[in-house]
Amino acid sequence: MTTTPHTILKDTFGYDDFLPRQKDVIENILQRRDTLAIMPTGGGKSLCYQIPALLLQGVTIVVSPLIALMKDQIDQLRQLGIPAVTLNSSLVAREYFHNTEQIRNGMTRLIYMAPETLLTGKISNLIKEVQIDLLVIDEAHCISEWGHDFRPEYREIIKVRREMPGVTCLALTATATDRVRKDIKKSLGFEDHNEFISSFDRKNLVIEIIPKENADEQAVDMINQFPGRPGIIYCFSRKQVDLLAAELKRRRISALPYHAGLSDDERRRNQEAFIHDDANIIVATVAFGMGINKPDVRYVLHYDLPKSLEGYYQEIGRAGRDGQRSICRLLFSYGDKNKIQYILRNKSGKERAAAEEQFDALLKYIDTPGCRRKPLLAYFGETYREPSCEMCDWCLASQEKVMDITIPAQKFMSCVKRSGETFGAVHITDILIGQQTEKVLHHNHQNLSTFGIGKDWSRSQWLSLADQLQSLNLLEKSGPYNTLKLTEAASDALRTRCTITAVKPRLQPALFNARPTIPAKQPVRIKQKERMPEADNRLYELLRSLRKTIADREHIPPYAIFADRTLVEMAAYHPQTPSSLKQMHGVGSVKGERFGNSFLNAIILFCREHGLNEIHKRAASRSGSVPVESTRKPKFIEVAEEFSAGKSVDDLCTKYNIQMQTVIGYFVKYVKTGRSIPDPERFLKFSRVSPAIRCQVMRSFDDLGTEYLKPVFEKLNETVDFNELRILQLYYLNTRNQKAAK
Ligand code: ADP
Ligand code: ZN
Repeated sequence: MTTTPHTILKDTFGYDDFLPRQKDVIENILQRRDTLAIMPTGGGKSLCYQIPALLLQGVTIVVSPLIALMKDQIDQLRQLGIPAVTLNSSLVAREYFHNTEQIRNGMTRLIYMAPETLLTGKISNLIKEVQIDLLVIDEAHCISEWGHDFRPEYREIIKVRREMPGVTCLALTATATDRVRKDIKKSLGFEDHNEFISSFDRKNLVIEIIPKENADEQAVDMINQFPGRPGIIYCFSRKQVDLLAAELKRRRISALPYHAGLSDDERRRNQEAFIHDDANIIVATVAFGMGINKPDVRYVLHYDLPKSLEGYYQEIGRAGRDGQRSICRLLFSYGDKNKIQYILRNKSGKERAAAEEQFDALLKYIDTPGCRRKPLLAYFGETYREPSCEMCDWCLASQEKVMDITIPAQKFMSCVKRSGETFGAVHITDILIGQQTEKVLHHNHQNLSTFGIGKDWSRSQWLSLADQLQSLNLLEKSGPYNTLKLTEAASDALRTRCTITAVKPRLQPALFNARPTIPAKQPVRIKQKERMPEADNRLYELLRSLRKTIADREHIPPYAIFADRTLVEMAAYHPQTPSSLKQMHGVGSVKGERFGNSFLNAIILFCREHGLNEIHKRAASRSGSVPVESTRKPKFIEVAEEFSAGKSVDDLCTKYNIQMQTVIGYFVKYVKTGRSIPDPERFLKFSRVSPAIRCQVMRSFDDLGTEYLKPVFEKLNETVDFNELRILQLYYLNTRNQKAAK
């Protein structure tokens, strides 16, 4: 069998699929092109060079700013059977000599070094003696004075690079700003290179902002949601850290403090205890986190308000690197906001302006109504297009709060009726909130009895109500301008004054409302393609303690043995042979051999005691899918038919684990076969442009056809994006098919 990036992924790392962008980056490096890869924390940057390091003939050098992280990486690589060494100033002479001998003798694939080590004369000599194929600059933003962590030594890397002209260079960072990106390329002398940027959306993080009420109680709640699992609580000041740690101790919860006021030794001990699962909870200032690679942090609680959006994003990013569902909760209070504003006012000049700008960005994020991911990702230049993420307090709450909206519904519908059923939702809203717009005055609508009766709601609430009344089939759009008309059901409802229930459009962000209830989910559940059987919690706990015992014996963190997800899968499938153990996520050949027997024995004994049998992972999916596959309808037809039968787009996204854009893509494919979907208005709900633009797009389709979207995009001066065009293309084709069928 030939060795490829994919066989290494499976055989050495035990993973089935690449994470987004990993494959592109790896292939680009193997083609010997300089590469800049920008991925968020947890995006899987390490694999991007570790796999090439195993495929290239020469050695890979990894420049990394933190000695603690190098050690962590090397520990993890050793468990995978990948030889790697480090060269840095913390080594004693004997170790340093030993490691250079290993390199000279061709016994290593990767060398981790600090930037200052790379610049020493000794290294120049070493570089001449051994073949180096790849130079990796980890945390490459350190090269830029514009980055948040500038290190002057990084600037010198270009000199070393000039000494090794044939070596490919990979720069990695999680910092996305354009200025930093340009600086990296320039400082490293990249000419012919490629760039790869992953989305900064961390899909497995539940993002919540809730009012701070009784903060200590709220901290205990958070801890109790994940008993015995790792979590970080961030406080504003050292004093607050000490107070909270003491309070938790008083409640017999063991939590360790971490801040710059503690001795180096105490800080190191507390951090180690956290990494090695000897302590679950760290209460810390923002001093904690750099140099922590712990993948299984299940929650990050902001007990106090952070000072910037960028810092907040970095801090919440420490949760759930392993891709498992994790919670990031921020407790907001006006008191905290005023306190920080007061502190910032005491700064001066440029520093004050910059700090205030950063804090304002955070406040703006907190205050933006709607899905939290939209403003958060927008800050990093990304557009979040899904109608709901289902993983933030806002989206989860709006799913749940079904309530009586009879009165506002009556207001809206009677306003539609009184204005003659010839206006759209925006105009009706203007009347309700009492706006004297030109159009209102022109039609004398300021004299309607419904003028100004809806001032208690915001514009966006009324517009969202209008959408809901359409989904409830009480209003319908008609004509080319999408004017609203009452349906028969609406007339009945108005006459009989029956109760109308729906989701109440929210007035303001969650923090001003009651606390949303997030459905309590098992922390050990993970989302994946194949439906995993329920994990046995007793077996899971048993395997966790086995992992801890082995980790302590080997002096490595438990996660370097197996990730949590691996243990969850073992507890779900109960593998009992080496080959079925290898089917588990993260069990590569070396780890399988090294630790497999201990885990297998534990599983076999447990299963015997409890009368459990192995569930075959592959077999389960194969026997389920192969026979079905041959008779099954293509997926796009299945999805479109379910939509036609009344399922919502949201339901379909969840059921098939796909994105909204994919669903729309399926519909387009479906209507292109000549079929049609009833109620095309349902997908117009996802359209964001005005009716006038919609007409322009329709006309462009008349002129240019629907085969390609690019000509339409260009004709409209690139003002309507492709996602929007796809929705309108769908509408256009569907209407055409409907007409043809008549
Ligand atoms: P980053 O440096 O970008 O923060 P890491 O390289 O530390 O990310 O990877 C984050 C986590 O994801 C690690 O626990 C790693 O083992 C895991 N991981 C990386 N690639 C994959 C993959 N293809 N499939 C599953 N897990 C992966
Ligand atoms: Zn959301």
